[in-house]
Amino acid sequence: MASLRGKTAIVTGASSGIGAATARALVAEGVRVAAGARRAERLAQLGDGVVGLPLDVTDAASCERFVADAVDALGGLDVLVNNAGLALGRDPFWESSEDDERTVLETNVNGLVRMTRLVLPHLRDGGHVVNLGSVAGRQAYPHGAVYVTSKFAVRGFTYALREDLLGRPIRVTTVDPGLVETDFSRVRFRGDEEHARGVYQGVEPIRPEEVAECIVFALTRPPHVNVDEIVIKALAQSSGARILRSE
Ligand code: NAP
Repeated sequence: MASLRGKTAIVTGASSGIGAATARALVAEGVRVAAGARRAERLAQLGDGVVGLPLDVTDAASCERFVADAVDALGGLDVLVNNAGLALGRDPFWESSEDDERTVLETNVNGLVRMTRLVLPHLRDGGHVVNLGSVAGRQAYPHGAVYVTSKFAVRGFTYALREDLLGRPIRVTTVDPGLVETDFSRVRFRGDEEHARGVYQGVEPIRPEEVAECIVFALTRPPHVNVDEIVIKALAQSSGARILRSE
């Protein structure tokens, strides 16, 4: 297992869920982290070892400022965790709206591509890009067309980046979770708590810390080993749409 001690990392979308758990897990491994999110005030809860900076991945100027400030604060970069993302609604595609489509694709796809482009010139040899994909990026499920589209794009981008980086000492991984209990459903159902809670009812979902452990696993393989992808689902979930629930 390679040590992460003394390395530096950017984690996008670190104000809650998987991003927050990943920032904490990296700090526990001795990594100094620049954490970004729109709700930057929430990043203070991540504690020592984390520099919290405002970041809106849909805004090019915000991303440029964030990367410049992160490089200033950390003095060089080893890891980028492209985690910021969201889904909006769980409806048949014909009920989708221009605004929601733009938000989801701008965040999950353009934001992730933009952050990667801005960070790559600063990644030192031995660097690593980890993208948060999803089981939705591997197999479609009903009533999630735009989210599914965005995560298929993340998967495509991950492998395209791997092709372009071949021959350079930078590793690329996609981590594709199933049902993880975070604010994800609260955001997807626009603050409807009951609806959001229902997603995790009668099933034991994955905890964000368990996804963070997978990210740390990929990062700590020996330098010649590239973990291309990790798929992690709750035992009771066999595919995006198929979840076995107890009464
Ligand atoms: P979450 O708790 O809602 O966290 C999402 C994070 O993304 C928040 O920190 C949010 O911060 C940030 N974010 C959203 N829009 C942003 C923007 N424009 N600029 C910067 N940050 C932004 O959900 P999560 O489950 O941890 O999701 C993290 C990633 O895992 C996402 O890419 C998601 O698609 C993926 N994923 C989740 C699940 C699941 O079941 N939960 C399954 C598979 C994949 P602010 O709102 O403060 O900006």
